[in-house]
Amino acid sequence: MGDHRIVATDLLRAGERKRLESLAGCREVPSLVSFLSEQFGVRLDTDPDIIAGYARDSSNLPASAQVLARPDNPRDLAVVLAASQVTGIPVTVTAGKSNLTGSATPEGGILVSLSGFQSPAVSVDVATRLVRAPVGMILEDMRRAVVEQSKGGLVYPVDPTSRADATVGGTIACNASGFVPGEQGATRCWVEWLECLLPDGRRIEAKRGQYVSRDGQFLVEGGAVAPLQWPVPRHARPPIKNAGGPFSAPDGVLDLVDLIVGSEGIFGVVTGVALRVEPPPAAVLDLFFSLPDEARAVQCRNRLAKSLEGGLGSLRAFEYFGVNCRRYMDHESVFFPGKDQVAIYLQAPVPDGDVETAAGLWLERLMELDCDIDDAGIRLLDTERTWKQFMEARHSLPAKALEVVQQRGAFTIMTDTVVPADQFETFLDFTHRRLAEERLEYVAFGHLGDCHLHFTILPERDSVVRALAAYDAIVARSAELGGVYSGEHGTGKRKRADFLRCYGPAAVDGVAACKRAVDPGFLLNRNNVISAPEGVTQ
Ligand SMILES: Cc1cc2nc3c(=O)[nH]c(=O)nc-3n(C[C@H](O)[C@H](O)[C@H](O)COP(=O)(O)OP(=O)(O)OC[C@H]3O[C@@H](n4cnc5c(N)ncnc54)[C@H](O)[C@@H]3O)c2cc1C
Repeated sequence: MGDHRIVATDLLRAGERKRLESLAGCREVPSLVSFLSEQFGVRLDTDPDIIAGYARDSSNLPASAQVLARPDNPRDLAVVLAASQVTGIPVTVTAGKSNLTGSATPEGGILVSLSGFQSPAVSVDVATRLVRAPVGMILEDMRRAVVEQSKGGLVYPVDPTSRADATVGGTIACNASGFVPGEQGATRCWVEWLECLLPDGRRIEAKRGQYVSRDGQFLVEGGAVAPLQWPVPRHARPPIKNAGGPFSAPDGVLDLVDLIVGSEGIFGVVTGVALRVEPPPAAVLDLFFSLPDEARAVQCRNRLAKSLEGGLGSLRAFEYFGVNCRRYMDHESVFFPGKDQVAIYLQAPVPDGDVETAAGLWLERLMELDCDIDDAGIRLLDTERTWKQFMEARHSLPAKALEVVQQRGAFTIMTDTVVPADQFETFLDFTHRRLAEERLEYVAFGHLGDCHLHFTILPERDSVVRALAAYDAIVARSAELGGVYSGEHGTGKRKRADFLRCYGPAAVDGVAACKRAVDPGFLLNRNNVISAPEGVTQ
């Protein structure tokens, strides 16, 4: 059992902390900028054009910041964080800017970009099967480096669609996930070690299992700051795919690594990481097949989950193309040659590398499921051409949907809910009916293996209000059924009401207590997950 006493180290010398204290109460940006530059050699930008290039993220929420810091090492970052605590100026951390929830959108104050965190260089230890990577590195670059440095012997299997834009640190902060169903599809499962700066700038390092809260508390000691009790969130989280809010432990026993992963940067800034990597299967089999309707697709999912050794978690992808997808996909005639309305893409590992035999076995298995799969329509994505067509079809789906709503002068509204498998059909029935009642057009696709579909509503300009109400109703229903509002996109600023609706006010209080202990002014990534209490924002 790990220790609940966390040892933090100060990256600032005692004299430096004292010097910073002379900034107390200083809310004037020019004074802050010149002080940090002259006294600490930390450069801040105030040019609005430069700041604008960093401030807006993929959520498109309005952003504003007075100052931009671009540290490339933990010490300079520690100076900025400590200055924020002394002055009371909020600080927002941004990295790849690919989040959809406004979690990296600044609402005033200092914006810290971590894209300069590019050292030490990525390195793979083949013997221990660990990769250490700088947090500002683009995830796909790290994934490629793992394959190259291990000469194809190891891979990092977490593959969010945004991996060419998202950073290593951003995927840890958001517990990003990809196609692999089950726990192994999400970042949390692979994080072995973290270095993190607390909001006051002190550094902690934690191996998985090293620090574990006791009776719901950590104790943080070390540096020139008095020891502090750090309570952990204790709300119940359903045992399903979940990116909605920080990790929690009803029994009060929580690994520090788990507290940080998925917390959207509200408890600290991740500055170093070691991730587990694994050998890839000898080969994989990629299949795309269509089915008459959603009921058959769900039947197929449930029957496979029962019949596959290791369940759906033994697959590397089990993706769904549901209602209206065929209308919005390129190469419709290739992937939907008949009347079928929905489809599944499946990737299965082939441990012995014999893809041909595996393909034969899978065809038999799919037929035995008795879900009206048309065997003539099963496509093996085994050539560069078919794979390219599939990727084009897949990427054309959100792009075309976006084009349509933009022409309508509106925007897409996308659910990210997950429900327990035994409630999935009830949830789907409710959601389709609700959207039909409102006469809203939508496409449904996503991670069928995890019961995690994205209903993407394409409203007309005058139906946006009804679409938002339908979104709220769908999220509320998912919570009633024991589900969560986010399987991968997280909470950020946009979905704070969803966090409250899903877990209730006691959970908000629990997260607030955890936050307050290390960041009394709610200054770091303020308003992510929960709103800062009114008293502290004045
Ligand atoms: C087209 C598209 C597809 C997407 N597909 C997926 C998908 O398949 N799966 C999925 O899970 N997500 C997906 N996302 C969402 C997004 O890519 C992820 O949430 C990603 O993890 C964000 O990483 P980032 O580097 O862009 O972080 P940012 O967007 O810059 O920041 C996100 C949050 O992380 C915090 N943060 C960033 N770095 C650190 C750090 N080092 N320490 C502490 N906090 C930090 C920020 O403060 C912010 O709260 C998608 C987004 C888009 C636009």
